[in-house]
Amino acid sequence: MAEKKSSVWGLPMQMLAGLILGVVVGAFVSADFAQTWLKPLGDLFIRLIRMVVVPLVFATLVAGAAGISDVSKLGRVAIKTLVIFMLTSAVSVIMGLLIANLIEPGVGVTLSTEGLKAAQVNAPSFVTTLLEIVPINPMEAFAKGSILQIIFFAVMFGFCLNMMGEKGKYIYDFFDVMGQIMIRMTNIVMHYAPIGVFGLMAAVVSQHGLAVLLPLGKLILSSFIATALLIIIIYIPWVKFWIRIPLSTYFKGIFEPWLIAFTTCSSAAAMAANLVAARRLGATNAIASFAVPLGNTINMNGTAVYMGVCAVFAAQIYGLDLSLQDQVIVVLTGVLAAIGTAGVPGAGLIMSTLVFTQIGIPLEVIALIAGVDRVLDMIRTSINVVGDSTTALAVTRMEGEFGTEPFDEGDNA
Ligand code: ASP
Repeated sequence: MAEKKSSVWGLPMQMLAGLILGVVVGAFVSADFAQTWLKPLGDLFIRLIRMVVVPLVFATLVAGAAGISDVSKLGRVAIKTLVIFMLTSAVSVIMGLLIANLIEPGVGVTLSTEGLKAAQVNAPSFVTTLLEIVPINPMEAFAKGSILQIIFFAVMFGFCLNMMGEKGKYIYDFFDVMGQIMIRMTNIVMHYAPIGVFGLMAAVVSQHGLAVLLPLGKLILSSFIATALLIIIIYIPWVKFWIRIPLSTYFKGIFEPWLIAFTTCSSAAAMAANLVAARRLGATNAIASFAVPLGNTINMNGTAVYMGVCAVFAAQIYGLDLSLQDQVIVVLTGVLAAIGTAGVPGAGLIMSTLVFTQIGIPLEVIALIAGVDRVLDMIRTSINVVGDSTTALAVTRMEGEFGTEPFDEGDNA
């Protein structure tokens, strides 16, 4: 975890530099030159992140699901925790959709979808979309990169692996290590991001002009407002009336994990502090140890908000209308994408491709988002982390065990 911190500050500055350089170069070179020589640099970035996504999602989800300790014993707690995770994630995507529909961050600039492959995907009916979450042949799902099907298979595989107990230990270790390998690969790929962002931005600006930059500020604003509203409308009443602790105690208690998440953009880096925060605020050891690590893998409310905001932003950029059905698909895939997002910097950007593909948005839009993704990542990671400890507190309250196990500061060694 500590090793990540050192590289974190360098990369965002490099990505921002790539963005600025891409804009400057794109404003001067001809569209032909940019298409021939600069865009391939960006295409390489897109290929690299697409290469990582299938094994990353599969390995992290299998290890995450299999890592739930003793489901039969913790059955009730597990169900409550999972229901809260799912509900808050869905509400988060909806909040992102609502605010982005109001602020319209992508309106005013239209990129052509002509010749871009993903734009030609026809949206299937809602029932078909639901049915197709279940793969007929998992190997086919892997070969085609059908992420929804892979996620479904991974969760079932993880639960069955869990049921194997000791016998499944080797396979669990395998996927656990595999997940770590893929996270390392993601980090390596993200180091190429500045060059990729440069190439993609130069190509976009040379083709469409500088006006494409205007929506980025509105994108950050939409993300910020949606997240702030999530806290005001959902979290604050939740803490005040359900968990029933003073707001000042709550904010003071979650400050440390929040700060780590905000500065490192990694839920994984903030997990230990988050566990301690949940315990200090009144969660029992068993519930905090279950909900916080599990949530670290699958509960990403901030990333879910981001999925909703980015989907609307991207559709507006390309002048595509998102029907109600499309927006329902965004909620569904947004929740699943947030579940599959690893707690490392930039993972949400990679996973957003899942939502975009599902509603037929060209993946090139991530070049625009990537340039400011660090700022968006700071906003979303903070809420990802806070959601986990807050869920642990809520489940402890529901179990009638709140504050029954005072935290021993000696445990925090
Ligand atoms: N950086 C986020 C996290 O660690 C994941 C994301 O990129 O959305 O929680």
